[in-house]
Amino acid sequence: MASGVRDPREIRSWDDEVDVLVVGLGAAGAAAALEASRAGAATLVLERAGGGGGTSAMSGGVLYLGGGTALQKACGFEDSAEEMFKYLMASSGLTPDEAKIRRYCEDSVEHYAWVVAQGIPFKSTFYHGCSGEPPTDDGLVWSGAENAHPFRDVARPAPRGHVPQMTFQTGPLLMQKLCAAVDASPARVETNHRCVALVQEPDGSIVGAVAESFGRTRSVRVRRGVVITTGGFILNDEMLAAHQPLAARCRLRVAADGDDGSGIRLGIAAGADTIHMDAASISLPVTQPWGLKRGVLVNAQGQRFINEDTYYGRLGERALFHHGGRAWLVVDDEIFEKPDYDFALAAVGETPGELEREMGLPPGSLEATLALYNRHAARGCDPVFHKQPEYVKPLVKPPFGAIGCSTDDALYAAFTLGGLRTDLDGRVLDPEGQPIAGLFAAGRASSGIAVGSYSSGLSLGDGTFFGRCAGRAAVRGR
Ligand SMILES: Cc1cc2nc3c(=O)[nH]c(=O)nc-3n(C[C@H](O)[C@H](O)[C@H](O)COP(=O)(O)OP(=O)(O)OC[C@H]3O[C@@H](n4cnc5c(N)ncnc54)[C@H](O)[C@@H]3O)c2cc1C
Repeated sequence: MASGVRDPREIRSWDDEVDVLVVGLGAAGAAAALEASRAGAATLVLERAGGGGGTSAMSGGVLYLGGGTALQKACGFEDSAEEMFKYLMASSGLTPDEAKIRRYCEDSVEHYAWVVAQGIPFKSTFYHGCSGEPPTDDGLVWSGAENAHPFRDVARPAPRGHVPQMTFQTGPLLMQKLCAAVDASPARVETNHRCVALVQEPDGSIVGAVAESFGRTRSVRVRRGVVITTGGFILNDEMLAAHQPLAARCRLRVAADGDDGSGIRLGIAAGADTIHMDAASISLPVTQPWGLKRGVLVNAQGQRFINEDTYYGRLGERALFHHGGRAWLVVDDEIFEKPDYDFALAAVGETPGELEREMGLPPGSLEATLALYNRHAARGCDPVFHKQPEYVKPLVKPPFGAIGCSTDDALYAAFTLGGLRTDLDGRVLDPEGQPIAGLFAAGRASSGIAVGSYSSGLSLGDGTFFGRCAGRAAVRGR
């Protein structure tokens, strides 16, 4: 058998026996453990760190939910599962998983109620002016590109970023509450246990797992199912080199140590298929505050390549994957303000031509781009990239500046989106599309609904949602 997999005949005596084993206690693992244990299954969670939380506890804590949640209604916004479905289908890459998106949208109102029932507080107020976690404790934000071209013409826009009540970066609160709910549930949690192998019968079914803890090996027999919720692989240089080498250039690969792809590799060793391994969320939050959306983002040829008012995750993906991670946001004196995050002016000039020379761009390139942009902006429109009129104004007041948006001088934050291929119940599939009996996955160990272009909150949103689905399906067993 492949490494990472043990034959049950190799195991002389089992150290433990449970119905459901959850591997990894981030947001997806907590959701799986809660559903499995509350359904009456003897559930064990093995977590390799000294405590639960994972990358989820280091995140912004935003959950992408909609379809008319209680919070959206309380803030006065109308939404429907159908509009949410249309947006996600249009914005989630070239090959969106229609069935998963459909289920996620239809059950989103219920999922929000479940999140609240775990003790996670949300303030019924809306914050306008940022994409993702707000600088306040407000509960609802825009967290995608719903208002921007081309999506505003595809689906009726609605804010869907649900943010637990805490000022700034709310991931720690989210995980504190979810881990407390797991502690209060019948599930058992063993920390400092790193899962190193699945136990697989010759017929392919998964019947247990092997973990290591402080040099000791421990085997767990599993009667119903193993759920892999070990996070993504942004910290694994070899896997990045194989699947998405450009992501390795990002300065900020924020993740808990566990994001090294170990769970994905356990699944592969057991015969699992993987999909969208090249997909990654790449944030380039240069247009915060939103007034900076009035700038123009150009590449190394001095050309615009996207509507600057779109979600900053789309700016990052386009700049990195299509323009080699070399870009600048060009501003004039009228619109310049200090970016919220760590971005700096890379060049300044009294004229577009001088700025272009300072930036080392081809002669005339930026001048031509600004001339075209300004010609249309004088009439308040952008026929080239269709930026919303409120962010379109001629850039004419010197001095002109270029905010550095290249991977060597700017904040690019990355995490991976691809992983084990799963169905609607979180069952892990082999390359023929057949479920591997007894094996489930959720969160960023699996490929979720954001597999090409990201909206903030989709990872925690689909991780907790499909984590719950996987937990329930694991109880039903092989
Ligand atoms: C700066 C930043 C901000 C973000 N903000 C948001 C946001 O606002 N909204 C959003 O939706 N997403 C956000 N994300 C992305 C999101 O945080 C992650 O994609 C998400 O937390 C993944 O959840 P998970 O449960 O799959 O994995 P994790 O939370 O990483 O949990 C996996 C757990 O498994 C454990 N583990 C790993 N391997 C093993 C093993 N072999 N054996 C046992 N245990 C193991 C790990 O230690 C870890 O505790 C952000 C990411 C970054 C980098």
